[in-house]
Amino acid sequence: MRLKQTGFLCVLCVSVVNIFFTKTMAQELKEVPLTAVKLSDDFWSPRLVRNRTVTIPHNFKMCEETGRIANFARAGKLEAGPHQGLLFNDSDVYKVMEAAAYALTTDRDAKLEQYLDALVAKIAAAQQPDGYINTFYTLKAGLDKRYTNLKDHHELYCGGHMIEAAVAHLRATNKRNFLDVAVKFADHLDATFGEGKRYDVDGHEEIELALFKLADATGDEKYRRLGEFFVRERGRGQGGRKLYGVYYQDHKPTTQASEAVGHAVRQSYLLCAMTDMCLRGDATQKPALDKIWRDVVERKMYVTGGIGAKHEGEAFGDAYDLPNESAYAETCAGIGNALWNHRMHLLTGEGKYADVVEQVTYNGFLSGINLAGDKFFYVNPLASRGKHHRLPWYDCACCPPNVARYLATVPQRAYSTAGDAIYVNLYAAGDATIELSKGKVAIKQMTRYPWAGDVKLTITPSKEVKDFALKLRIPQWCQGATVAINGKSLGELVNDKGYATIDGAWSAGDVIDLNLPMPIRRIKADPRVKANVGRVALQRGPIVYCVEAVDNNGRAMNLSLPPDAELTAEHRGQLLGGVTVINGQGLARQKENEPAKSVEFTAVPYYAWDNREAGEMVVWLPEDISLAEAIPSPKSAVVAQPDQSQKGN
Ligand SMILES: [Zn+2]
Repeated sequence: MRLKQTGFLCVLCVSVVNIFFTKTMAQELKEVPLTAVKLSDDFWSPRLVRNRTVTIPHNFKMCEETGRIANFARAGKLEAGPHQGLLFNDSDVYKVMEAAAYALTTDRDAKLEQYLDALVAKIAAAQQPDGYINTFYTLKAGLDKRYTNLKDHHELYCGGHMIEAAVAHLRATNKRNFLDVAVKFADHLDATFGEGKRYDVDGHEEIELALFKLADATGDEKYRRLGEFFVRERGRGQGGRKLYGVYYQDHKPTTQASEAVGHAVRQSYLLCAMTDMCLRGDATQKPALDKIWRDVVERKMYVTGGIGAKHEGEAFGDAYDLPNESAYAETCAGIGNALWNHRMHLLTGEGKYADVVEQVTYNGFLSGINLAGDKFFYVNPLASRGKHHRLPWYDCACCPPNVARYLATVPQRAYSTAGDAIYVNLYAAGDATIELSKGKVAIKQMTRYPWAGDVKLTITPSKEVKDFALKLRIPQWCQGATVAINGKSLGELVNDKGYATIDGAWSAGDVIDLNLPMPIRRIKADPRVKANVGRVALQRGPIVYCVEAVDNNGRAMNLSLPPDAELTAEHRGQLLGGVTVINGQGLARQKENEPAKSVEFTAVPYYAWDNREAGEMVVWLPEDISLAEAIPSPKSAVVAQPDQSQKGN
């Protein structure tokens, strides 16, 4: 919406340009299709290739080796044998299939498509005549026992992941074979649950957001209504149902919630579903979403974007309870946080949500996978004594396939649209073709982001597109951003809900130069976060840094960073796949009663830690040497890989 139109004439044909405030809520934002964005940068592009060629095949191989795929063949009577593994293992197969479908969307691969078809055939064989599907109940617990423990047995959670995978598969291949299985399952759910039928919810949210996707894919509104039923039934206990409690976000109706509680992945998926309801016209969830967002972002989120601080219950802790070494910050919870914030951005058009997507994506999500693409963190601590290591797989393997499916969709986070506006949310070199109501706009981005903040965008609208608004996200970490159009500076920018908006008529070849200064920043935590009192974290651009022992004479926990330490950035193309490191002069504590030594230190991007020699790692560095540890390390190692018995996915 234009509030004023007082632009100026540029030398090279961008005729009218405004930077202005938008006071009304942006309307009807849409995400762009995965095929609209082709990245060619040095950061994401190689990771996308590795996801396709290493991570997804690795995930399928592990699903084969651990019997996850055989479970379907056995449930479908295609082979003999018992159920293998944990009761929610079906979901891992579905999640890798979803990742593979995204990969197929952008890169055709006949072999992968055939592999998926063979898998779909096994899944279809495992489906019961009434549409029910779950290999644990079919092979082990007994079909007569199904839905007797919705609280803890993940039947609808697994089904939700199947639906998401089937929708992605339809979009990628135009084939209905997988979707038909999903529809049959959803119809079975619709016949079983709902108003006047059985009142219940799954202990692990996921089915809700999946049903919204299925409604979009099929045009059948009954799936949307069923998804809404599952959201609304939480905390209600209609039909005499006993509530499952806080851990399951089933303690009060979602509209009355004001805090993030319980199991962090479950909470984040529920928040996705509540936002999906708002996106589909039901605003009743919005006040709760706003309150919970502030609770998460201001009180319960790590600087890496990670959420769910507690090991016990993989859960949110109290406000400001964000320990570093014992941080849980499950990779899946980070992904859930990003998926939710992406939806909140689509709902509101506000940049602060895209900021969180960026924060998680470059830090707390990306730490979940090694540089080679075949090992994964389940928990993402912000300090370590060198005992945390990524593993190729887990008995409870929710994270590895979740990494694969989120990574595959990163290009989709780059843009969104609303009417005749284009939001640029992620800066990465590449080409995009954005569809507006009147026609297409081609955008070429040239940038070294996230290592440098210069972004050159070349805009080429098709003939039918006369004018539109280009909204450039100005991240909250950035001060002093500048924009020039065809070489002419726009002067001071107005912050329009996290964006600089350029509105006007465009000509093919118009060039926007955006500069986002990236000084090294010393971040301080809220003083109520006890673990970080007297400490600072280093951030440059969107990247959060850590110090690792391997770069710092074999230790990290003995280092301190005095307030006046000079810090410099240095790009090292050969290190850790090419990273900008931060160098500086710090202090290293020695043995008790010995004076501290002045030392050169090097910090590397947090996401890249534990890719070399094992050793200590610290994100929050003490400013005062007295908070650093003396030599030798006085404490025994804390092993933070999770206790599998507590897993809830
Ligand atoms: Zn996980």
